[in-house]
Amino acid sequence: MKAGAVVCGAGIAGVSAAFHLARAGVKDVVVVDPRPPLTLTSDKSTECYRNWWPNVPMASLMNRSIDLLEKMADESGDAFHLSRRGYLFVTADQDRLTRLALDAVEMGRLGADLYDDNESLRRRFPYLSERALGGLHARRAGWFSAQQLGSWMLARSDVKVIRAAVTGVEAGGGRVAGVLIEGSDTIETPVFVNAAGPMLQEVGRLAGVELPVYSEVHLKVGFRDHLGLFPRDAPMLIWTDPQVIDWSASERTQLAADGRADLLGEMPPGCHGRPEGGIDSPWLLALWEYHRIIQEPTWPLPEDRLYPEVVMRGMTTMIPGLAAYRDRLPQPVVDGGYYTKTRENRPLIGPLALEGAYVVGALSGFGVMAAAAAGELVALHVTGRPLPDYAGAFSLQRYEDPTYLAEIEDLVETGQI
Ligand SMILES: Cc1cc2nc3c(=O)[nH]c(=O)nc-3n(C[C@H](O)[C@H](O)[C@H](O)COP(=O)(O)OP(=O)(O)OC[C@H]3O[C@@H](n4cnc5c(N)ncnc54)[C@H](O)[C@@H]3O)c2cc1C
Repeated sequence: MKAGAVVCGAGIAGVSAAFHLARAGVKDVVVVDPRPPLTLTSDKSTECYRNWWPNVPMASLMNRSIDLLEKMADESGDAFHLSRRGYLFVTADQDRLTRLALDAVEMGRLGADLYDDNESLRRRFPYLSERALGGLHARRAGWFSAQQLGSWMLARSDVKVIRAAVTGVEAGGGRVAGVLIEGSDTIETPVFVNAAGPMLQEVGRLAGVELPVYSEVHLKVGFRDHLGLFPRDAPMLIWTDPQVIDWSASERTQLAADGRADLLGEMPPGCHGRPEGGIDSPWLLALWEYHRIIQEPTWPLPEDRLYPEVVMRGMTTMIPGLAAYRDRLPQPVVDGGYYTKTRENRPLIGPLALEGAYVVGALSGFGVMAAAAAGELVALHVTGRPLPDYAGAFSLQRYEDPTYLAEIEDLVETGQI
């Protein structure tokens, strides 16, 4: 079998890369994955997007991605339900509010409304806590169905999907010559794209490269909000402060006895959630990554039977109306996956040392929102077309630049929520 390009991985990154390769005129694009498309990480996401990023390359990549999403939404008749609700960053801390106000000035061109007192904030978002001092509403942001987008991209291109694992990359004459597929013949191809998500490192080694990535566990919980307490018209809501959960004395004793002292002290910032589905849907999605588990990607994911309750308590700090669920948690559904990322939380998109080999990955917690522009960028590299300004910031070669390495050495603000 021969192919114009072989993409390893049918997550949102691989599907988008294949879609853009085909649109750029590459013939016989093949995506290889042992799993059905979009079923490892890309269907576990909260599916949110934003252009609100604290550095120019990420903001540019996301703006481009959102441009493409808007175009595809038009072209598809809104097949993937692109919303524009925004992200609301909320705080009860005066210093943090000052920082949000500074962000609003420095990053204002990205589009955001600042609410710098409780009254104006709660006039617009009445369900928020009286403790909230203010908030910043990033406007070029919202959510959409990643699975519907991926399915639409697959249906819209004549990309072939093969259900098998990639087991090797063959080189000949100093460049990619073929891709080995488990239980099948080698596919002859001049182009190999590594879009293996959490297995990026493993698949990178098949092309003779060590990719500088690691993986963090991230869980998510869906609740059936049967009492209708979560505001259905809310934006993505993010509590940006650390918080201590108000466990009762007996709960504290029990948690300590159960070895869950990690839940008793100050918990990290970033508890967040949003309504899921239409106005009549009872579902809400919520996340709070307080585990900070970094590990080799393996499944099943580490379990935390208290995760739904902890997240509901965290969300209640921001939306006190949820307190009605304190003693009787609504039905939860927990899933999650890995944020596979680089140390500075920017993706890897571009050529590898072996000619004809490329990577599109390390998409961390932003792969769904970045996929459109990331797929386009890797296709531009493959076809040798002019590259956008942000291309260099995502290439593997950036790590050869001592100035860049010094710049990211002490980086604190990486934009991860
Ligand atoms: C809880 C959670 C919430 C998130 N929320 C958001 C959000 O709100 N917004 C956002 O933009 N992003 C979010 N993300 C991140 C986003 O989901 C990921 O960045 C994105 O799905 C990664 O896509 P991918 O295609 O790189 O990887 P994946 O979807 O994991 O796909 C990789 C594919 O490669 C295949 N593969 C691996 N090895 C091989 C091999 N040897 N041969 C063939 N195939 C192989 C796998 O089977 C898999 O199908 C979230 C992630 C999690 C876990």
